[in-house]
Amino acid sequence: MKLFAIFGDPVSHSRSPLMHNCVFKSLNYKACYTRVHLKDGSKLRETFFNLKLSGANITVPHKEAAFKACDEIRGFANEVGVVNTIINENGKLIGYNTDADGFMYAISEFTDINNILVLGAGGTAKALVSRFKQENIYVSVLNRSRGRLEEFKTIADATYTWDNFKIKKYDLVVNTTSAGLSDDNYPCPKDMLENILDNTSYVADAIYGKLTPFLQFAQKKNITYKDGSDMLLGQGVLANELFVSAELKKEDIQKYMKKSFEL
Ligand code: NDP
Repeated sequence: MKLFAIFGDPVSHSRSPLMHNCVFKSLNYKACYTRVHLKDGSKLRETFFNLKLSGANITVPHKEAAFKACDEIRGFANEVGVVNTIINENGKLIGYNTDADGFMYAISEFTDINNILVLGAGGTAKALVSRFKQENIYVSVLNRSRGRLEEFKTIADATYTWDNFKIKKYDLVVNTTSAGLSDDNYPCPKDMLENILDNTSYVADAIYGKLTPFLQFAQKKNITYKDGSDMLLGQGVLANELFVSAELKKEDIQKYMKKSFEL
């Protein structure tokens, strides 16, 4: 029996155990997926091996710590320095990033996306901004503080804190902050957010399973929106494929993982 887990702080809200266990159970794959509340990201590697895990997903706020904990990084994670999936390959930790492709899957129904505003400058923002740039999209980033924004100066087209923000017209605004995850905060001051919403066609939130204050505001303004569920599904299918190393078919993984959203 293989054991998998999600690491995060907080982690009790995570739907990942339900999603992955639904796939394992439906396809008779001998594995179980649990959650681990990890406060200190520097303990990730040691905790992973102590629990004898075969693989794991990483959520807030440990994705950068996960990158550092790995012995080898593969694919897109190399470009962004952020890891959301780790695999135990013969005692070595191999890190991947499936968030960005999961998000591209989520917004595939939105058309003519050429100009995006990303709210937040954390690990998810970094992955999404780099992925959007691969598609030649013009990307602006707005964050409440300066620190983590620095490294976006070389990846994004424009970076702002709340103090120096200059509004543009956007096709899509994406909330990647954790504002609204376990509180009722907006991702930026309310009047600034109102101005932003009046200048976009679509909005998306990385947070799933609830209508955040950000999405409630967009809904009031009749803007087409989506929460993070499809992103979660997209990244989960890709992570599960890595967990089972091609032993299950992608179509089957997708089918049963999608079913878990009805539970
Ligand atoms: P990080 O901790 O790396 O980054 C959090 C970001 O949010 C930082 O930019 C931080 O700003 C900002 N922030 C936090 N609180 C507030 C607030 N009250 N007001 C404004 N800004 C705030 O987190 P991640 O990037 O890993 O994750 C971000 C969100 O995305 C989480 O809610 C997570 O659940 C969700 N997510 C969803 C996925 C899905 O599949 N649907 C996948 C991945 C993530 P500062 O720099 O100033 O501290």
